[in-house]
Order: sequence, then structure tokens, then C-alpha cells
Amino acid sequence: MAEKRDYYEVLGVSKSASNDEIKKAYRKLAKKYHPDVNPGDKDAEAKFKEINEAYSVLSDEEKRANYDRFGHAAFDGTGAGGFSGFDGFGFGGFEDIFETFMGGSFGRSRQRRNGPVRGSDLRYDLEISFEEAAFGTEKEISISRLQSCTTCKGTGAKPGTSTETCRRCNGTGQIRYSQSTLFGQFVNVKTCDVCGGEGKIIKELCESCHGKGRVSKTSRISIKIPAGINENQTISLEGQGEAGLRGGPSGDLYVTIHIKPHPVFKREGYDVVCDIPISFVQAALGAEIDIPTIEGIEKYNIPEGTQTGTVFKLKGRGIKYLRSNNRGDQYFRVNVVVPKKLSQKQKEILRQFADVSGDEGLDEKKSFFNKMKDLFKE
Ligand SMILES: [Zn+2]
Ligand SMILES: [Zn+2]
Repeated sequence: MAEKRDYYEVLGVSKSASNDEIKKAYRKLAKKYHPDVNPGDKDAEAKFKEINEAYSVLSDEEKRANYDRFGHAAFDGTGAGGFSGFDGFGFGGFEDIFETFMGGSFGRSRQRRNGPVRGSDLRYDLEISFEEAAFGTEKEISISRLQSCTTCKGTGAKPGTSTETCRRCNGTGQIRYSQSTLFGQFVNVKTCDVCGGEGKIIKELCESCHGKGRVSKTSRISIKIPAGINENQTISLEGQGEAGLRGGPSGDLYVTIHIKPHPVFKREGYDVVCDIPISFVQAALGAEIDIPTIEGIEKYNIPEGTQTGTVFKLKGRGIKYLRSNNRGDQYFRVNVVVPKKLSQKQKEILRQFADVSGDEGLDEKKSFFNKMKDLFKE
């Protein structure tokens, strides 16, 4: 595959372009290269695709940030399944935009009824666990989609029977007729009324699909989820959408990942964050404490005199990067828990502790109270 062009370059905008500027540039280019404006022009079609891809990334804040950081590597395929940040941006989304400035009929007239039609793209939301996202997994999903009819191999004709070219339209699916008006002679085109625009006449309909060539079926599809995937990222499975019509290609399937919250860990990019409660004795004396990591319990020595809210780092214990074998870090914050119920004996010991401590820590206290005094002086 040819080297991918920079998305900003594709849309002809600067790296600091605002959302509005990006949208404007996109609309202008999309209008220029839309397949309806350039029928049969492969270059325009490729350009149109490129523009849509660039726009789908740069118009999305999160994807744009990823792209700025990692470039195309943020969205390239990895092995089977293929990971892509390019989510279900089919003609659907585009037509919406198009309608707003072309009056609607434009996008639709493209599909002449007897030409091949690409199948629809499908979107699927898949929820996985925190660990599955961290380590990668393989999931099977069940989706209902239109598939090519196996009985008639998509032709719509009963097996063993033949289709014949429509004689009224000579297989074009369209009928042209001239019309004289006050303003001169016009050539009109309308859909063939005999074959309904198919160009072919099926003598006997396939019984499985009633001549439609496609049937709705539920299929199980296996999806490889790469380690490090994050919330709202999308895996694209080419050709796993709905079957096309009349030899058209299948659509794609876009699986958007959602990660269930974890009871202990939170994720920040590729870092893992958690809170660890410790006793005030552990905080004061220092202690070896158990830290849960995504791979199990790890021992960590906190130093004596640790203050509540202190954050410690376990290097490289975070989540594997999507694009490399490096890993993020784990951060844990200790919260000193003050006991709510003390026995008589514990209280006694703490009083003794206070007596022995005497003026300890007084300097800090003093400066604190001096500040307070300053505050209320006036
Ligand atoms: Zn059939
Ligand atoms: Zn016809």
C-alpha cells in the first residue's frame, strides 16, 4: 500500500486548525470529489475515501489527539482482525452532511437500481472487562445481518432456472424517452417498469430469499481484541457487514469497545491508578504493604513518616501500549485511616504517646497557628 498522506495535508488545513476550519475544508473537498460528481473516476473515488478517513479522525477530539501523538500508527492494522480508529463512518454519516447543502436527492440518485450495491456497514458495541482490555482477548459476538442467499448464490433465481435480460430496457434497467416541451426537447430517463430497474427478469424466484438474493441470518463472529485497547476505540472487520446486492461488495463491521469499571483500578491512558488504605501506625513507622497490580499482589515498602495522600509509582506495571511492547506505570495513593473505635487500652497507649511526644511537630504547628493569627489580625 502506498505511503499514507498526512491527514492535515489531505484536508489542506494547518495542524492548529479549529473544528470549524476542518469541517469547512472537508465539505469543500467532499463536494469536489464525491463519486456522483465524478462517475467512474477511480482517482476521485480514492481521494474521496482519503478525505473521509482524514475527516473521521480530525473531527473527533480523541482520535485527533491520538493522531497528533502517534501519527498513522495510532490507527493502522495489527494482525488478524485489524484494529482501526476509523469507526463506522459510511455513507450514512456523509449523506447527512451532504443533504444539508445539496438538497438531499444527491446521495441517493447514485444507486442506480440495476448496478451492484455495496452492503451496509454494521456497528456493534462490545463490553469487555478491565483485564481483557489490558491483556487482549478473543471474543465471539453474535450478529444478525443480511447475507448472500446460499440457495441461489445471491441471484434471486430458483436454482436450475435462468434469468433473462429484460427486453423492454435491454438490461439497462432504465427507459429513455423524449419529451417535447415549450422549452424544447428533453430526454427523460425512468426506471424500467417491467423489470423494476433490475435489468433482468427472474422467471422463478428462489424460495429461500423470495428473489431478494439476501437472507437475514445470525452469525457468530470471532474478534481479536489487542492488549491495550481503550474505551471507545473501534475494531474494524472488513467485509463482515451486510452482503452487497448484485455482486456488490459486503459492508464492514465496526466493533466499538467499552470497558467495564474495575472495583479497584482506574485507567488513565496506559497507566493504572488505585487507592490503598493504610493504618496510621504503618504510615508512622513504615511498613511492607500488599499492592494489587493487574498481575497480582506485589509487596511494597512504604517509608516511615508517610503522609496521607502520598502517591507511589510502580514502574512498568501499567497496561501494554497498543503499538509497542512498552507498558504504562501503576500509581497508588495511600490514604491513612484513623481508627474510629479504640479500646481503653489503645487510648491509654496513645495518651502515653502524646505525653512522650511532647513538643514534637510543634514547629509545624506553631507556624500554622501564626499564619492563622495573621489571617484574623485585621
Ligand atoms: Zn435465494
Ligand atoms: Zn427492464
